[in-house]
Amino acid sequence: MREKRVFIQDFTRKEFRDLLSAGTIQAALVPTGTTEQHEEHLEMAHDAASAEYMAREVALRLHPRVVVAPTVTVGVSEHHMPHKGTLTVRVGTFLDYVFDICESIARAGIRNILIVNGHGGHMNCLSHEVVRYRQLTRANIVYCSYWDIYTSEEAYALMESKRLPGHAQEYETSFGLAAFPERVHWDAVTDPEAKLATAEKGRKVIAIAVDRVSDLVQRMIAGETPQVQPHSFRPAGVLVGPQHFPYQSPRTV
Ligand SMILES: [Zn+2]
Repeated sequence: MREKRVFIQDFTRKEFRDLLSAGTIQAALVPTGTTEQHEEHLEMAHDAASAEYMAREVALRLHPRVVVAPTVTVGVSEHHMPHKGTLTVRVGTFLDYVFDICESIARAGIRNILIVNGHGGHMNCLSHEVVRYRQLTRANIVYCSYWDIYTSEEAYALMESKRLPGHAQEYETSFGLAAFPERVHWDAVTDPEAKLATAEKGRKVIAIAVDRVSDLVQRMIAGETPQVQPHSFRPAGVLVGPQHFPYQSPRTV
């Protein structure tokens, strides 16, 4: 038997219409990622694949009340362009595109929309822009990068490198080993922090993230508009708030 469906594109229009008119669908998730270099060992799909994985797991947890939009797979990755194969779009293009997806969902009558982001380069622009998205659509649109929801205690206890999310390092590599090991090319790992990754760590960080993001969606369904602050856990301490993540400088390694 086919497993539970959660992606909007997997329903027929009749099925979707019936679910809406019955009041079944109460929230939608919009996964946002990138197609960008992820060091030598992770596939360029990582950010998009991880955001989609999180959104799917959360929607399955809350099935049938939550559906998932198709993943935005190309984002703002100017800082990774020195590595060929990376694709990027301008910030305005990205924000307009994500807005149009959210507005389409709102026009279908779904009032709660959570953007489930998987790319650090989107934290600043999305966390600011959701305010405008809400004003223009009157829908309850919230931003969350799926790693924003850890406590410092959890992040530092789970990651030996004391870095979360980092880039293609312990956290993302562990996530990949647990969620889609076929996308982790372990023999090609060169980054010393990536070598600390294990599938077991990945399962632990995913379990917490699915719990917390599910809670966030349930709060939205209950009428709240949670304010999620961008987070980055680093060896020197945790950075909280969009001001720490301005447009990122070019990356050459
Ligand atoms: Zn990444």
